[in-house]
Amino acid sequence: MTKDDIKKIKQLLETPKQIVIVPHKNPDGDAIGSTLGLYHYLLKHNHKATVISPNDFPDFLKWMPEESKILKYDSQKEQSDNLINTADIVFTLDFNVLNRAGDMEDALSKSEAIKIMIDHHQQPDAYATYMYSDVNMSSTCEMVYNFIDMLGDNNLIDVDIASCLYAGIMTDTGSFRFPSTTSKTHLVVADLIDKGANHSDIHNQIFDTNSYERMQLLGCALTNLKVLPEYRTAFITLSQEELNKFNFKKGDTEGFVNYALSLNNIIFAAIFIEDSQNNIIKISLRSKGHFSVNEFSRAHFEGGGHTNAAGGKSNLDLKTTVENFISILPSYKNALNNE
Ligand code: 5GP
Ligand code: MN
Repeated sequence: MTKDDIKKIKQLLETPKQIVIVPHKNPDGDAIGSTLGLYHYLLKHNHKATVISPNDFPDFLKWMPEESKILKYDSQKEQSDNLINTADIVFTLDFNVLNRAGDMEDALSKSEAIKIMIDHHQQPDAYATYMYSDVNMSSTCEMVYNFIDMLGDNNLIDVDIASCLYAGIMTDTGSFRFPSTTSKTHLVVADLIDKGANHSDIHNQIFDTNSYERMQLLGCALTNLKVLPEYRTAFITLSQEELNKFNFKKGDTEGFVNYALSLNNIIFAAIFIEDSQNNIIKISLRSKGHFSVNEFSRAHFEGGGHTNAAGGKSNLDLKTTVENFISILPSYKNALNNE
């Protein structure tokens, strides 16, 4: 994003606009935190802003200020389409290819609104009028903080904005432990705490609100954990039957894959989760060091993301997907052992 872009966006936002803000499908803490943080900021400039999420998000994010105002495209399509069709500006946050917006893809690509992308994933598509894309950023929330700062409005960041942005930075950095966390990230969260974000409360809301069933599901996932030492790889499977047994709810499997990655000498981890409703296997991939799960997912599982965290899917059944995954590993043996 150039200084000239910022100048133009500042001019654009000088008068009240109709604005739609969109996170990616199955939004996580960074997606909901960044869209709501930006929403609260835009309201301060008297814009008419609406966050429209492709679908619902986990309960552990449902403490964020005004989260109940977020529209869900899958259940509120008509109202959402009207807003998208009449919007002056559409912000797309925490994703960089329109198909990550799921069923909203069509409406977004047809929209003639000015599009502003704020995102930290690799290989962005060129759909936006203004692109703030930086793969070195810890999170989209850190970028929204910078965006507000570049517009000269740091002083407008209040406790609501600060809490939303803090939550997204915390979740996307694995509580400030992933390599994407920089000294600048810490300066940003320090400022957010100064502006009223209660770091301890936010951590509790997100990580200490587990249901007993989720703990049982984790037990099941860990029982299913398999290790392939020759490829420094570990993986977990969860079938639909297992999910049903423990009354799976959206967000329950968040972070499970990290247990596989935490094993000594393992640098590549995967979780395969059966989704009978959509007839797919949802895949999460994680790595340590230079082994790019973004490239791996793009090559084999129709997905992408970051070097050390990516997602993807498979249209085969669970057993065949895992067999397929194992059969691919020999071609990465050198890469995995040279880390
Ligand atoms: P997760 O495994 O937690 O779903 O996602 C890990 C990272 O990869 C996140 O940054 C997420 O936005 C991204 N991601 C997940 N699924 C996909 C996908 O299907 N395509 C792309 N391009 N990115 C994905
Ligand atoms: Mn993110």
